[in-house]
Amino acid sequence: MSALAIQSISIAFGGYRAVDGLSLTLQPGEVYALLGPNGAGKTTTLNMILGFVKPDSGSIVIDGVDAVTAPLAARARTAYLPETVMLHPSLSAIENLTYFALLAGRRIDAPMARQLLADAGLQEEAHDRRAGSFSKGMRQKVGVAIALAKDARLLLLDEPTSGLDAGAANDLSEVIRAASGRGIAVLMATHDLFRVKDVAHRLGILHAGRLVDERDAATIGPVELEQLYLQRLAA
Ligand code: ATP
Repeated sequence: MSALAIQSISIAFGGYRAVDGLSLTLQPGEVYALLGPNGAGKTTTLNMILGFVKPDSGSIVIDGVDAVTAPLAARARTAYLPETVMLHPSLSAIENLTYFALLAGRRIDAPMARQLLADAGLQEEAHDRRAGSFSKGMRQKVGVAIALAKDARLLLLDEPTSGLDAGAANDLSEVIRAASGRGIAVLMATHDLFRVKDVAHRLGILHAGRLVDERDAATIGPVELEQLYLQRLAA
């Protein structure tokens, strides 16, 4: 079964088609980067997958569950890392994880929380520290641990590398690989062509709501990708 199957979704705001006939399928463990400039429709696509907005037409199925007609059940299979992962600043990483896991219907004990944080790459000395002092990269790791705790089958990331330094971006790639290795499909929306290239299996270029190109990441180098991207956006 596909982790995500999107069939020809469209949505218009005031007559403007923000997403126009988008189809996309992700297999378990597959990492897909949706590339596109500001306004291409990336966030709108993620919002439709999350059930926050309903497509005007088309279907979205997550791990066999219809996300349009059963958004809550579909969301239970999905984890979402927004551009800024919001954690409770006065709670520790462990407390945040147990709290958000509980909200998602999973009761986890402290040893399990520690294991999940370690699996998500958060250094041990940070497990009991208040999240208020965490960097973006550290908050993302807690977010990934929450995804692991709720046993999500699909992880959505919006602009995950913006504002990360090289080390943190590298860490994020490791974390995404680890999630993929556990069979979690990962869809990330970004305009960062270079950082995603080494972690994504497939790349799609979204322009004015349409998927204008799609490539196997292994078949395209960074320079060709940039050329292709600029060509497709100019077309
Ligand atoms: P960015 O990288 O800037 O986040 P994006 O690719 O995520 O861009 P979207 O935020 O999905 O793009 O926006 C796509 C288009 O839809 C834009 O023209 C935006 O103004 C429009 N749009 C998105 N949501 C709404 C809304 N709720 N009402 C009206 N227009 C909207």
